[in-house]
Amino acid sequence: MESCALVLPKERCSSPRGAARKPPLTKTRQKRAPVLNNLQVLSRRTPKGNRLILTCEHGGNRIPSAYADLFSKAGAELTSHRGYDPGALDLAKALGSALRAPLVFSTVSRLLVELNRTARHPALFSEFTRGLTPAEKDKLLRRYYWPHWRMIESLIAESLAQGMRVTHIGVHTFTPVLHGVERTADIGLLYDPARPREKAFCVRWQEALRKSGLELRVRRNDPYRGAADGLTTHLRRHFGSSRYIGVELEVNNRFAVDDAPTWRAIQRAITQSLDSLL
Ligand SMILES: [Zn+2]
Repeated sequence: MESCALVLPKERCSSPRGAARKPPLTKTRQKRAPVLNNLQVLSRRTPKGNRLILTCEHGGNRIPSAYADLFSKAGAELTSHRGYDPGALDLAKALGSALRAPLVFSTVSRLLVELNRTARHPALFSEFTRGLTPAEKDKLLRRYYWPHWRMIESLIAESLAQGMRVTHIGVHTFTPVLHGVERTADIGLLYDPARPREKAFCVRWQEALRKSGLELRVRRNDPYRGAADGLTTHLRRHFGSSRYIGVELEVNNRFAVDDAPTWRAIQRAITQSLDSLL
């Protein structure tokens, strides 16, 4: 399994049922076709000229076999919120499918390498991987970290080059209780307060979610600050505020873990509210 994956939305079939299908592309053509070309064909460009791009940095808790020994005593850490964001990848895939948006996601554990920190951040490596040699760390980054970052950078640059504006949503979940303190938010929308378009987008999203009828406690820049170190903050430095909106969506993972009917309803509410803003 690849460490960094890109899921493009499925092409909608416009031909009537039973109509002759186009012959499949030859293997050679499939190999040669740059994946980013499919972005233009398959993903949605809204009437306002926006493209939604999704990422999921903490989609799984997989430890590649080459690093299994480092985690022999990890125990429950790997299956807890420290290992990954429970439910985040399900939500990201549901959003991508419903809204025809490309999704870049990773399924290796954040305890192997933290994809939502810049490469110089002290929390890039966990207590399990901090002791690796510089060469081993570099190898780990090249295999599991940089592909994810470069893929999202390419997708955004490609969309901007096509004359679109980009709304990038990083999909996350958070633990209901951290260090003994209960979090009071159900959904957090994280943005940079210094970027007015991001703030306006999150104010509108908050209102749209409140109208869902689910009585969700939707907060802005809670439980984390949107401008803190991470992938989205890095992308803001590269892409101007007039054409790039970067928001991190944080959902309380108690829904994903404990309450399947509510979790499905929340996924629908997030999908519909986000769709109304694009
Ligand atoms: Zn996360």
